[in-house]
Order: sequence, then structure tokens, then C-alpha cells
Amino acid sequence: MFSRLAARLWRARARRTACHGKYAMSALAKGERLNKSWTFIMAVTCDILIVGGGVMGTSIAWHLAKRRCGRVMLLEKSYLGAGSSGKSGAIVRQHYSNRLTASMAQKSLRVYEQFDAVVGGPPVFTRSGMVLIVNEKDKAGVEANVKMQQELGIDVRAIPAQALADIDPNARLKEDEIAVFEAEAGYVESVQVVASYAESARREGADIRLGVEVQKIVTKGNKILGVETNEGRYDAGTVILATGPWAAQLGKDIGVELPVQACRTQVALYRRPADFGRRTAVYCDFVQGIYFKPTHGEMIHAGSLAGEEAQNPVDPDDYNEAADGAWLPGIRQRLSRRLPAMHRSYGRGGFGALYAITPDWHPIMDRLPGLDGAYCAIGFSGHGFKMAPIVGQLMAEMIVDGKAATLDISALRYSRFADNDPVTTPFSYGVMG
Ligand SMILES: Cc1cc2nc3c(=O)[nH]c(=O)nc-3n(C[C@H](O)[C@H](O)[C@H](O)COP(=O)(O)OP(=O)(O)OC[C@H]3O[C@@H](n4cnc5c(N)ncnc54)[C@H](O)[C@@H]3O)c2cc1C
Repeated sequence: MFSRLAARLWRARARRTACHGKYAMSALAKGERLNKSWTFIMAVTCDILIVGGGVMGTSIAWHLAKRRCGRVMLLEKSYLGAGSSGKSGAIVRQHYSNRLTASMAQKSLRVYEQFDAVVGGPPVFTRSGMVLIVNEKDKAGVEANVKMQQELGIDVRAIPAQALADIDPNARLKEDEIAVFEAEAGYVESVQVVASYAESARREGADIRLGVEVQKIVTKGNKILGVETNEGRYDAGTVILATGPWAAQLGKDIGVELPVQACRTQVALYRRPADFGRRTAVYCDFVQGIYFKPTHGEMIHAGSLAGEEAQNPVDPDDYNEAADGAWLPGIRQRLSRRLPAMHRSYGRGGFGALYAITPDWHPIMDRLPGLDGAYCAIGFSGHGFKMAPIVGQLMAEMIVDGKAATLDISALRYSRFADNDPVTTPFSYGVMG
């Protein structure tokens, strides 16, 4: 019998969920014991369920919740930002070699610049400017990119060595090197961005649950019914995968191949010498094959641009999170060629992190094929943080309005690989898109 005590407990549990406290013999709290003889198991029901609490999942949650499009829930298997997002360099620049990604970065920058006012929480953006350096052989490519970016209204220009010295007295430029300066660029505080998106999404009514791992997507015919988790069943007519480096796993069970590989990347940290002077800009240095940026305190965060481990997928739940001792000195050497004062920097180790890489190093933002109500925003390939604001907006448009309208993102569709129509970059300097 359904005792009064049990009924009270059940109602209380139902109230704690933002979703319907729909009673069903499946599982929210599988095994939750309400009295000695009865075990009541509830499925949580919501309208839209996001899997993954990185910057993409939380941005999508905030945009959807703001649009009052039903009950929005986000499930994260560990903690917010536990994947790529919490370790990101989070450089925000608009320098891309195709219009779509440059426009995505441009629209997102406008949000990051006034994140506290638009989303909430403290300000997150530091404007440092970005210097991009290429070899003479890439002259035509970089000029074409700069022209395209200027047409979009981006403040970017080639600069001579003297102008670079004015921007960053520590920097050196050789005669056969070309420097381009993007004045509006900078970086954001990645952990705070994720936290603020989540906090604001909650304020708008989204239910964000941590420690809930989605183990399986449940379908019937071509319809999404919900997901199975370590906490039991969650019913939802719409499911969005924002699962970063873990993306391929959930697709497999429902017969959808998601071409996203989890690959390790490394970051080196150096404390600047005491006489370094003012903070440096952000750099994408294609001559030295590294990027670097100021980070907390007097530190510089540096990493390789080459995607050195992109051919060696790893298990995202079991990879080396420490930096390789043998890798660190080489990065310092290359960094010191650009900023000679860094010869005297203090090595502070580094860490290993994950990229979620697609075959063309661009994300997939689309419906999943053959399944009503299934979407993905995955595969941001080491350069997605800067785009998270517009990603959330576009995914909300796709889900609520039926089409992403702010920008035409058909180039990022799932089928492009099967269509042999990947996003390409005409120039030899690589990951910039
Ligand atoms: C070292 C480094 C430097 C970078 N530098 C830059 C940069 O300078 N500029 C830039 O724009 N981008 C940069 N990036 C890339 C950027 O950080 C990523 O593109 C972005 O963070 C991806 O966010 P995401 O939400 O897609 O993935 P993630 O942050 O990985 O989030 C995915 C989340 O899903 C959760 N999850 C996975 N599976 C499940 C499941 N089954 N159930 C529940 N939860 C699940 C995970 O726990 C994780 O929290 C960098 C990345 C790294 C690693």
C-alpha cells in the first residue's frame, strides 16, 4: 500500500525536481527506499535535456531557459567544466580564414565583452589584443584572411616590427616574418564563464544536475524518448549532446557515428621574470608553432599549434593529465625565441587536457540523422570556447524555431563528411579554420 509517509516523501522528491514528478515504474532514484516494503522509482520528465556541462551545454541551457520553451534540464556526469572547458586557454579572437567561423567569433566576442551585463556574474573578458605571426610563404593567405575579416568589420591589420615593439616591447620579429594585430582580441576566464552560464540558466528555471551520467539514449522507432543514467530514467522529447571529447560514445548505441575523437593536448606554464614589464598580448605564432597568452598572476600559458597528438585518440576517462617532462623545455625554447625575456622564466610545470577533434577540425551543430528530437553541438576541435555564446543561441534557434537563423550554419551539418564537403581552409597555416 502506498502509505502516507511514502506519499509525502514521494511528493517532496517530486517537488525537488524541476520536472514533472511523474510517477512511473522506471527510475529517477532507482532503489530509493521509501519504506521497508516498497521501493518507488520515478522517471524525471522534462521537455529538453542537455547532456554535458561544459561551456557549450551551459550556454545552450541558458539560451533555452531564457526562451521559456518548457522544462530544460542539463545532466553532467562529473562537475561543471570538467572536460575541455575548465582547462581551456579561452583565447577569444576573430582571426579565421572562413567567414562563418569569423562571424561566429565576432558575435560571441560582443557577448564576452559585456558578459556580466548580458549573462550575469563578474566580468570575464580581458582585452589584450592578439598578434598572429606567419612566414613570408603565407603572405598571400594572411592578406586574404585580413581582407575578409576587415570586410566583416573586424579591426585587424598587418603591422611592421616597430609597431609590434610598441604593442609588446618584449617581442621580436624577423625580417621574413609577417605580424598581424587584432586589437579587440583577448581571453576569458573559462571556469567563471561556465559557472555564470550555469548560474544564470538556473535563475531562468533550468535544472542542472551534477554527477548524473547519461549511459544510453532511449529511442522508439525514429523518436527520442529520453536517456538512461546512473540515477535511472529521464524522459525527454528533445535531447542535445554537448558531450565534448566523449561525444562518440553515446552515438554508437543508437547507430549514429559521431566522428569526434578525444585527443590529448598539453599546456606549459611559466612565471615571467620580475623585470618582464607589462603583460603580453595573446599570440598565435605559426613560425614557432605555438600559441601563448597571459594567465593568472604573472604566468604565461603556452601550447603547441600543431595538434601533435591528434592522430592518437585517448580514452577521455583515462588519459595522462600531467605534462610530459620532455615536452616542456622545447616549448620554453620556442616561446623565448619570440619573447627573449622568457629565457629567464620560471617553469611551473603544465598539464594534459583534451580536444574533441572532427576530421576537418570544425564542430558539428545539427540534428542527429534519422531521429526526431536529437541534436548535437560537438567537436569544437580545440578552438570552440570563443564561440560558445553564439553556439548556445544558434542551437536554441534550431530547437525552438526549427532553424538556426542568426547565421547560416549548414556548413557545420552532420552529413558534410559523408557528402565529402568538409570545411576547408585555403591556407597552409592550419587550425585557424
Ligand atoms: C588546453 C586547451 C586550450 C584551449 N584553448 C582554446 C582557446 O584558446 N580558445 C578557444 O576558443 N578554445 C580553446 N580550447 C577549446 C575549447 O576549450 C573547447 O572547444 C570547449 O571548451 C568545448 O566545450 P564543450 O562544452 O563542447 O566540451 P567539454 O568542456 O569537454 O564538456 C563536455 C562535458 O560533457 C560531460 N559529459 C560527457 N559525457 C557525458 C555523459 N554521458 N553524461 C553526462 N555528462 C557527460 C563531460 O563531463 C564534460 O563536462 C582549448 C581547449 C583546451 C583543452
